[in-house]
Formats: sequence, C-alpha cells, structure tokens
Amino acid sequence: MLELEEAQQRILAMVKPLASEVAPLDIAVGRPLAESMTASIDLPVFDNSAMDGYAVRAEDVARASADQPVSLRLLGRVAAGEISREEVRPGTCVRLFTGSPLPRGADAVVMQEDTRPNPIQPDHVLFLESLKTWEAVRLKGEDVRKGAVLTGIGERLTTGRIALLAAAGWKEVRVGSRPIVGLVATGSELQEGGQPLGPGQIYESNRATLSALVFQAGGKPKIFPLVQDDLMATQAFLEQAFAECDVVVTSGGVSVGEFDFVKNAFERMGGELMFWKVAIKPGKPFVLGQWRGKLLFGLPGNPVSALVTFLLLVRPALLRLQGASDLFLPAHNGILAEALVNRGDRRHFMRVAVGSGGNVHSAGTQASHFLSSLAQANGLLDVPPRTSLATGERVSVLRWE
Ligand code: AMP
Ligand code: MG
Repeated sequence: MLELEEAQQRILAMVKPLASEVAPLDIAVGRPLAESMTASIDLPVFDNSAMDGYAVRAEDVARASADQPVSLRLLGRVAAGEISREEVRPGTCVRLFTGSPLPRGADAVVMQEDTRPNPIQPDHVLFLESLKTWEAVRLKGEDVRKGAVLTGIGERLTTGRIALLAAAGWKEVRVGSRPIVGLVATGSELQEGGQPLGPGQIYESNRATLSALVFQAGGKPKIFPLVQDDLMATQAFLEQAFAECDVVVTSGGVSVGEFDFVKNAFERMGGELMFWKVAIKPGKPFVLGQWRGKLLFGLPGNPVSALVTFLLLVRPALLRLQGASDLFLPAHNGILAEALVNRGDRRHFMRVAVGSGGNVHSAGTQASHFLSSLAQANGLLDVPPRTSLATGERVSVLRWE
C-alpha cells in the first residue's frame, strides 16, 4: 500500500498543466495566474490628497494653533479628476478633496477639520494646526513603482490581487484553463435524488459533493448518469466520460467485491492502472489510472471516503492542471479541545471542527458512513497510527471550508 505522500507525488508527476487562456479580471477570482503581471504605471499615479482639506506649504502653517490661527489666501479648488492651474505660493492655499491631484508648490494637506473660514476675509482660510511636510499626501509611486512585479506565475487570483491589478489598469489576465471533470457514480443501489426509493436503494450523494469540490478547486464538473454495477455499462460510461472530459472521477466499485467493476472496465477500454490503495483511513481503496494522458481517479463509494480522497489526492492534481503553485490544503494551527485516538494501523484523517478561536473538536462520530459529522466538519486532522492526542495539544488542521 502506498503512503499518502508517495501517492500524491506519483499523481502530480503525471499531471501536465492545460494550456492557459485569457479571462476578464472581474470573473477570474480564485484562478491561478499563468503569467507574471507588472505595473506599467506608478501607484498612486500622481501625488494626491488623502483628505478633504487644503493644499499648503507646511512652512506657512508651522506656527499655527487654535489660539493663533494662520490665515492663507484661497486660490481656488481642485476636484478629484481636475488639475490645478494654480501654484501654491507662500501665503496661499488651494481647496482639495480626497484624490485631488496636489497642486504645484504644495507639500502638505491640512484636513478640513483643522481649519475654519476667515470671518473677516472671505477669500482666506484660517489654519489651526501645524503639520509636517507631506502630511495627508499620497505620494506618486509610494505603493507600487512602475515596472514592479504585481503577481507571479501560479499565484491564485485573490480578491486583493484583483484590486491591485485593476488599479494598475489590467482588464484581463492569463490564467490556467479550467479542467472538465467527469463525475461518474457506480452502484446498483443508487437512486437519483427527488425520486422515490425502491427496496434496498439509497440516494446517490457523491456526485453533488464532488461537483462542489471540483468547483472549489477551479474545475468544471460534468455529471454523468448513474451506472449500474455491470462491467459493460461501466466501460461504456467510462469511455464516454474520457471522450468528453479532461479528468474522470468515479465513485464506488473499486473495492475487492465481485460487483466492483471500475478497474476491470477501465483496463478493457485500454486504460492503464497506475496504483491501487493508499494507506489512509478513510479512503484506502483509491485507484489511479491513465488513458491517453488523461487521469482516472477511482474513489471509494463511501461518501466520507470519497470526500477525503478527493481533497488529498484529486484536488492537488486539478490545481496543477491549472498551473497553480499552491496545491495542498492550507494547514491551520489549533488546540485540541478533546482527546482523539487512532487505534488503527493507518493514518486516520478525522473530521474536525475548528472554531474561530482555534479550538479543535471532533465533528462527531468518525465512522465512514456518518454524514452528520461531515456536515459539522470544516477540517481534517491527520492522526498517525496507534496514536492518542491529548486535550490541549497543539495540532495542525487541514482546512477545506
Ligand atoms: P463501494 O465503494 O461501491 O463498495 O461502496 C461503499 C459504500 O458506499 C456502500 O455502502 C455504497 O452503498 C455507498 N455508496 C457508493 N457510492 C455511493 C454514492 N454515489 N452515493 C452514496 N453512497 C454511495
Ligand atoms: Mg458499489
């Protein structure tokens, strides 16, 4: 049986990123960037005011106070989007608003709250405070220098990066293409949601779960009809899925029972099985295969096992297909709020709930058919074989929600 990390490395070694594509910046959130982006302008673009107030020469108001205000002659005003024709000379000021370009000659902005109208001279303003040069001025290029690298290849387009690129004038970005991921559920006991259940039937739930996970990982899920436990039917659906998708993810039918047809059907269509079984719980009977360079991920049918193996083994591959550099689930530190035990001889990825304060609780019963605990969970805790973790221990939780 393969160790998890070895399985991950073997999977990633087989993944070649898809060709990149250009996407509008405003709908590309979360996607990995396929080229590094640079600034063709300075940010701020020009010196401008951080406040509603008055452009002055700091020297002119150096001795200003509430008791002894300094009066400066008002030359005019500059709205955001305008350019001042006036130069601020000794003894003068210009009315500005947030974002107004700083007029020539000025070296500071006094906020409106530190001024008042001059009751005697209507074309003068009284200044009640002194200030340092460049106070309340946003300096050209202090945020980003023209030519600076804004984002690197493989970085996710976060909302903050969207803000930065948009401010630098970018409308489009080159990003990794989204892989089409075929979702095939096998099992003669499975019924579509919304239909009445016959004897021995259960509702199929993996395609919806996996579809959500594929979305979160940037892929385009494509759901196929339910597949009976039958060799020919399984082969026919696999062939269709490989013809129409970049990646195929099946659930169920990869164990050792006589109704487990996925491996057999895949080999019959000319697919090559790369490995079977990974030393983790839940999710041992995981299959990797490849057909003409496209990957088959055969997940166990148990809904919890399917989710865990997707997160640990399929998600990194989908991200690499898109050219992402960060492939694994983010790990967050937390403190165990209760003891957890793994008596087994495989690593147990336990469903846990991490609170906002960092307390980590078991999300409930860990049996692999329990979905109520899955619904409470937002992370997985990797508990080594034959290990007890005590209350209060520091742990690192893999987060997916
Ligand atoms: P299998 O991996 O096919 O042996 O299935 C293991 C368990 O998961 C069985 O109890 C199945 O009924 C159940 N199961 C398999 N596929 C699904 C599915 N798509 N949705 C819900 N349960 C499933
Ligand atoms: Mg089955």
